Amino acid sequence: MNNLGLVFDNRYLHHTIPQSSPENPNRLRHLYMHLQQKLTQDCFTHITPRDATDAEIQSAHSSFYLEQLREHSIKDDPYSYDKDTYLMEESLPAARLAAGGCFCLADRIMENDIDYGFGLIRPPGHHATPGRGMGFCIFNNVALTANHLRKTYGLKRILIIDFDVHHANGTQDVFYDDKEVMVLSIHQKGMFPFTGLAEEVGEKEGKGYTINIPVHPQFANAEYTCLLGKTLQGVVEQFMPQFILVSAGFDAHIDDSISGTNLTSDWFGTITHILRKHAADSCDGKLLYILEGGYNPVSLEESVFAVMDALLQKNFIRPGILSVPRAEKLFNGHPMRDYWTI
Ligand SMILES: [Zn+2]
Repeated sequence: MNNLGLVFDNRYLHHTIPQSSPENPNRLRHLYMHLQQKLTQDCFTHITPRDATDAEIQSAHSSFYLEQLREHSIKDDPYSYDKDTYLMEESLPAARLAAGGCFCLADRIMENDIDYGFGLIRPPGHHATPGRGMGFCIFNNVALTANHLRKTYGLKRILIIDFDVHHANGTQDVFYDDKEVMVLSIHQKGMFPFTGLAEEVGEKEGKGYTINIPVHPQFANAEYTCLLGKTLQGVVEQFMPQFILVSAGFDAHIDDSISGTNLTSDWFGTITHILRKHAADSCDGKLLYILEGGYNPVSLEESVFAVMDALLQKNFIRPGILSVPRAEKLFNGHPMRDYWTI
């Protein structure tokens, strides 16, 4: 069995509001409860998170934004900053701990203390741009982790895969003109934040290092595996990442009412085997999952466990055996570029 490092911490549950929001502590509460029931202590290494410092946060966010967050987090109205992204006194400490927890996992992977990592954290991060929080996101955990890896270990090629049903607009913005961090986002087209067209490919030095795969609202496992699997093959061969970070959102699940896509829990295990294969081929297996969205507690739990199961198995299943479906069949004669171009 592999050594899986997990970050979870009750302090992530302190970021909350009295009113209901899809992004609430029950998401993680449910997950943590089942974690204790399903995984025995020898299955994983629990890693205690640390706070991200101001300097670390400013590797992807402006000091003005950080100041704005401080001001709004002590106001009476938790929605004074943004209509979705609530801020309370406990929000910034939780957000610092979310980013810092991801740094701890990345460090342990780089030090070969653990084989893989999964940050079971909140608030999520992939919508947070350099100067603005939105879509429940305060600090961009995955972007900050990529910058932590660059600064601490001098890495020059980091690949971020984002399969949350929403476009990774914040992550894209941070690295849009950067050729050291490649951002690949697969997401449902026409949804919040209404960016992530296939034509958005990066600029200046970063041109070609942003890849967007907007998908049809009703796409399910086979289409996702086909599109993401084929893209990954080319990306990994050409870019040869030194580390693969996954913005792991589970809201494209069929039971998640926030989206129309139809992934099942098993799919998240399948894509994890594929990602393990690519990580093994390019970067000695360096693969870290960071939780983004996923708003149905039951499907979130099932899907996260499908990922963990795939990470824990000693051997990964080679994609050939996973029967990646043939594109022509899947799209029933329609040209794929109706949905996606690269
Ligand atoms: Zn999402």
